[in-house]
Amino acid sequence: MEHHSHDIVIIGGGAAGLRAAIAAVELDPKLDVAVVSKVYPMRSHTVSAEGGMAAVLRDYDNFDSHAFDTIKGSDFLADQDSVEFFVKEAPREAIQLEHWGCPFSRDPDGRISSRAFGGMTVKRTLFATDKIGFHLLHTLFQTSLKYENIHRYDEWFVTSLLVDNGRVEGVTAIEIRTGELVPILGKAVIIATGGCGRIFQFTTNGWIKTGDGMAIAYRAGVPLKDMEMVQYHPTLLPNTGILITEAARGEGGYLLNKDGERFLKKYVPNKMELGPRDILSRAEMSEINAGRGFEGPYGSYVHLDLTHLGKITIEDKLPFVKELAERYVGIDPEHEPIPVRPGQHYMMGGVHTDLHGFTGMPGLYAAGEVACVTMNGANRLGSNSLTECLVFGAEAGKAAAQYASKLASPSFGNPVDGETMMEEKRIFDRLLKHEQGERVSTIRTEMQNGMEKYVGIYRDENGLREACKLIGSLKARLTNGIVEDQDHVYNTELVSALELDFMLDVAETIPYSAILRHESRGAHYRTDFTKRDDVNFLKHSMAHKTSGPPRIDYSPVTITRWKPEERVY
Ligand SMILES: Cc1cc2nc3c(=O)[nH]c(=O)nc-3n(C[C@H](O)[C@H](O)[C@H](O)COP(=O)(O)OP(=O)(O)OC[C@H]3O[C@@H](n4cnc5c(N)ncnc54)[C@H](O)[C@@H]3O)c2cc1C
Repeated sequence: MEHHSHDIVIIGGGAAGLRAAIAAVELDPKLDVAVVSKVYPMRSHTVSAEGGMAAVLRDYDNFDSHAFDTIKGSDFLADQDSVEFFVKEAPREAIQLEHWGCPFSRDPDGRISSRAFGGMTVKRTLFATDKIGFHLLHTLFQTSLKYENIHRYDEWFVTSLLVDNGRVEGVTAIEIRTGELVPILGKAVIIATGGCGRIFQFTTNGWIKTGDGMAIAYRAGVPLKDMEMVQYHPTLLPNTGILITEAARGEGGYLLNKDGERFLKKYVPNKMELGPRDILSRAEMSEINAGRGFEGPYGSYVHLDLTHLGKITIEDKLPFVKELAERYVGIDPEHEPIPVRPGQHYMMGGVHTDLHGFTGMPGLYAAGEVACVTMNGANRLGSNSLTECLVFGAEAGKAAAQYASKLASPSFGNPVDGETMMEEKRIFDRLLKHEQGERVSTIRTEMQNGMEKYVGIYRDENGLREACKLIGSLKARLTNGIVEDQDHVYNTELVSALELDFMLDVAETIPYSAILRHESRGAHYRTDFTKRDDVNFLKHSMAHKTSGPPRIDYSPVTITRWKPEERVY
């Protein structure tokens, strides 16, 4: 059987994966690193980030302030040791990125510009107009090209981890071009596969965000942490789910209801449009439910008004917002308000790791949106995620390099070849050989609608029970799913079926974790338990895979210096 072998295998070519690759080869230039990505790296979701990345770079700012904003934003569920580590490393990563050539926007005196963002007390979000993701990913990608010992597997789809005796030994992956399943061995594996927004019906996330890495780790025995914490962003275009960045409010945009009222004064009077995303999303829904929203062909919405900002600010600071509004809604935001409504945006929960990306399984690390380190707790602040990818991507890269440089290469033989053959059977014999059955897309749509209906902004016991039942039945139905395209070459229908199989495992952990959390905290809002309960629920949920439904247990929250207090803005 053909196989490939490297010191470190990284799954994912987004911000976290590329940063990890560079950190690993910088720590030990003798190491040979593979970056495996199901799309060409520049198409990773990171490329679509708009608003900016947070880091303390100015005299008026300090680490404690960034840490406290993040912890308060998290509704006190963040582990405070990881937040303290994060805020101290953030400026180093920002400056490093600048030295690698990232074209940040600049003030007239030449310093990197910073803008206001939700939940941050001062301007600390560094930006590159409203296209930070494109520039940041380009910078990392081009830097990675300098290193001959970073090998890329573009358009290879990882299907599972190879595990021997409790230790990770590599991955199995399909080369999408040929349809062949090949083992790629590694002494260490870093999962950097991003989030799973496509589990939901209305999301800002690209089609490729299907939670593959979460499912891969979970199936191998690593718990998924805080999965009930799903972020809704308040400003999506109602027809497409395309994101209108928080930078639009950072630059001074207003949210208005149908009466032309800045309704946030009733919900977050001190922060208004710069309140955190969980509270703003619920405020919009409250206005809509009270009949103060607009009605349109794609449901109810409110207005994001930028008309008072003027041509120069919009063109200089928010050119992409203007382009999106013109192209996808046919309006010019200099003269008309933009229709917006809340939608799924980001996963606070993910693969459990320590501060260095270590998952607890020897050789296995995770970083970026797929991981839960956990610095975002029950609600992430906008612009912390890209910085998190850099800080903890670099940490995971270094930790994996230290681990891998001490080990001999894994040898190809049992049980790795046996595991690969079993994986071949699972995919090609079971999934591809069905002649009759249900279409995969029907099952996917039912999952997305069910998650939106029962596990969205508002949750209660009955709805969550329905969601658990629904996902269980969809999993059973997928065993009779049919892939009509029987070819091996560029079989994207097969890839979609495998993605749905991953999504269902990940989706199931969300209602099962949420139903046991009898409180409201951050993004997790229970209409039947509307208060936060620190006595019983100041703890992380941990979902473990079993042969039946997930088993949920808990781990403590690390509190260093900031005692939980009421979260008011
Ligand atoms: C529209 C939008 C705007 C945003 N704006 C901001 C912002 O302004 N500031 C901010 O801080 N955050 C922002 N975020 C969040 C942030 O961009 C993401 O959380 C972050 O970029 C995730 O990076 P990542 O490296 O973890 O994953 P991604 O960039 O999603 O990359 C995942 C990688 O994994 C690979 N992969 C996945 N599954 C497999 C598999 N099975 N086999 C092989 N490869 C696989 C993919 O090919 C890809 O290369 C935004 C998010 C969205 C959706």
